Amino acid sequence: QLPATLVERLTERGVTVRSGTIVRELHRAQTGWRVVSGPVPAPEVHEADRVVLALPAVPTARLLRDVAPEASAALGTVETASMAVLTFAFDAGALPELTGSGFLVPPRDGRFIKAATFSAVKWDWVRAAGEGAGPGGADLVLLRASVGRHREASTLQHPDAVLLDRAHADLALALDAVLPRPVARHVQRWGGGLPQYAVGHLDLVATVRESVATCPGLAVAGATYEGVGIPACIATGRQAARELLGH
Ligand SMILES: Cc1cc2nc3c(=O)[nH]c(=O)nc-3n(C[C@H](O)[C@H](O)[C@H](O)COP(=O)(O)OP(=O)(O)OC[C@H]3O[C@@H](n4cnc5c(N)ncnc54)[C@H](O)[C@@H]3O)c2cc1C
Repeated sequence: QLPATLVERLTERGVTVRSGTIVRELHRAQTGWRVVSGPVPAPEVHEADRVVLALPAVPTARLLRDVAPEASAALGTVETASMAVLTFAFDAGALPELTGSGFLVPPRDGRFIKAATFSAVKWDWVRAAGEGAGPGGADLVLLRASVGRHREASTLQHPDAVLLDRAHADLALALDAVLPRPVARHVQRWGGGLPQYAVGHLDLVATVRESVATCPGLAVAGATYEGVGIPACIATGRQAARELLGH
């Protein structure tokens, strides 16, 4: 919902939003910046007064290689964790009562899943979406589990059906219940979706910010810097805007 709302609000303010295209190059121009996007055989060149790189660490490092080499080198060392979110829709009548909004599973428990979110309990709009949405107008309860820890990519190297079956079994164990077959299930994989903050991350971020600060009209934002949660990402976006507007 957030990206769609952002696009809507920006468009209302006269901003042109281009999605579904990869930025491949970033160069200093006579004044400002030159950004090259699109496929190699049909590149598009955009001249910009100011640029915010709100990308994961690796593509940011690639784009900064020539313009801010210290930042690029530092960002190239940021590791990420891949994960998958497994969503289940159950017939509400066949499910035990869910209390709380979910749970986290510590690695030492040796389970396949690392967390579960009782989506229909946590978010009213998810609960509402499930009302009457099942076969014959039955109510559905949506919940999800996540799998994949840092440096455990092998956990994800299974077909979708295997991930779902193993998560279903872990959920049943955790809920101490015989779980029904889900009415529907879905896998969303997030390759490299979560940047990992290693020891020394604050120094790394300081190096990146100092290096980028030597490039007038350029700023960085996103989950790589001061927190992976959405509020922290938004804060870095605001900071980038303030830097570029000189506030
Ligand atoms: C499964 C999962 C669940 C999460 N749940 C929560 C939660 O419940 N609450 C919470 O606060 N946070 C949550 N997070 C964390 C949070 O969602 C992310 O940290 C945050 O969305 C990252 O935002 P971002 O803008 O930095 O990066 P992204 O959202 O990854 O955006 C970066 C964008 O850059 C694009 N891109 C990459 N390379 C290029 C290129 N060369 N040219 C153009 N575009 C490019 C990508 O396609 C992507 O769209 C979750 C994360 C994951 C993976």
